[in-house]
Amino acid sequence: MLQEIYNAWCSGMWATEPKEDCPCRGYGWGLSDVDTWHKCPRHNNGQPHPEDHEDPNTGDGSSEEEDPEEAERDAEDWAAELRRDDAWCR
Ligand SMILES: [Zn+2]
Repeated sequence: MLQEIYNAWCSGMWATEPKEDCPCRGYGWGLSDVDTWHKCPRHNNGQPHPEDHEDPNTGDGSSEEEDPEEAERDAEDWAAELRRDDAWCR
């Protein structure tokens, strides 16, 4: 079941050498079969979460200023996401 797949990914047993053959591709994060990201115990040396810096409002060269309220809301969403991941992993 999904929980078991997830738990298997949480255990880090999927990590392999060389890094080219590792599901994380040496980046330090592996995407599980249930679409969750897991830190690679072999190759993660503090790399940011792959979806942590994905922001549809930036990177397109626009000079639009960020709404501070919206930024705060995003941070809260992310914190909630992290807490949910922690809960899953235990
Ligand atoms: Zn790896």
